[in-house]
Amino acid sequence: FNVKARETLQHLTPYTPGKPIWELQAELGLPNIIKLASNENPLGPSPRALDAIAGSLHDLHRYPDASTSRLRQSLAAKLELSPDQFIISNGGDELITLLSETFLETGDEVIICTPSFSEYEFGAHLMGATVVQVPLGENFQFDIDAIVGAVNELTKLLCLCSPNNPTGTYLPRGILHHLLDVLPKHIVVLMDAAYSQFATASDYTDGLEFVRAGYPVIVLQTFSKLYGLAGIRVGYGAAPETIIRQIAKVKEPFNVNALAQAAAAAALYDTEHVRLTLEANNRGKLQLYQGFQELGLSCVESMSNFVLVDIGPDAKRVYETLLARGIIVRFGGIWNLPHYLRISVGTREENAALLKEIASIM
Ligand code: PMP
Repeated sequence: FNVKARETLQHLTPYTPGKPIWELQAELGLPNIIKLASNENPLGPSPRALDAIAGSLHDLHRYPDASTSRLRQSLAAKLELSPDQFIISNGGDELITLLSETFLETGDEVIICTPSFSEYEFGAHLMGATVVQVPLGENFQFDIDAIVGAVNELTKLLCLCSPNNPTGTYLPRGILHHLLDVLPKHIVVLMDAAYSQFATASDYTDGLEFVRAGYPVIVLQTFSKLYGLAGIRVGYGAAPETIIRQIAKVKEPFNVNALAQAAAAAALYDTEHVRLTLEANNRGKLQLYQGFQELGLSCVESMSNFVLVDIGPDAKRVYETLLARGIIVRFGGIWNLPHYLRISVGTREENAALLKEIASIM
């Protein structure tokens, strides 16, 4: 760490994820907990990934492939980039830290469109950089004029999350293109596309087309959501080679374990699991939209696998009561949205149970 970063360490707040299932089980003594708090895949992990993990167990005495070449080659073939345009990380979270360590130093500015995923801020603070918050505009849409207005010669990194966590809103292709054209080229743009596969809007882009075109964009992806592999920790960045080469310098050689590499490579080709997941997500989202509407609650149209719902001033009480009844969701207060809950799309039964409990509380 540089000196400034060491000073700022005392201001860092560790990330607090949703309550784990086992913890609530122990607290309540209930066997069945419903967790709709971390945007995980309710159908479970990709079966092909599980087979690949089983097939790799006998090699666990070996170090993993430090170059992650098989996974990078699979990604390159699938996404029409070169293997040298990928860096594999221990979850998308690690990519954010690596990116911050590579490009940020004391005094730099990082633009974050808030509310959003908290790890961008963590990465900035870790390196002693200054966070410049640009609030989302009306209906949680990205405010392009405000983003451009926040840019100055100190800006090093612009973090865009699309679909955005926790709002589910997205940045249309034409607007991203315009933004990339007007931004000074020394600014690295992080396009966090962790939820990209759930997006259904025709003008949605995961940003890869701009990587192919050579813009200074790094697209973050994860195997935690669509592929159901959150527990094994694997994600990646896709970017022009010059950016990847710099990040590779700060990466630990064995950051991605052997089981994760094998699981990810297999999951990429599990088209059946992907199909079922997307179908279930679209159905589940409609079920939640309809249920909230019947309860007179409005929610934000989501391009993702979660829904942000406006509960009103009672949101915290509803969140706590749900928790006491064994249902874990996220309280919007952590993003300064104290009237909202962020609810991951679950199975049909989980969604129904959630709606029933909310109806009985309100
Ligand atoms: N980006 C966003 C927007 C996320 O919501 C998450 C997971 N919560 C991640 C990145 C990182 O996911 P993981 O570290 O599990 O790959």
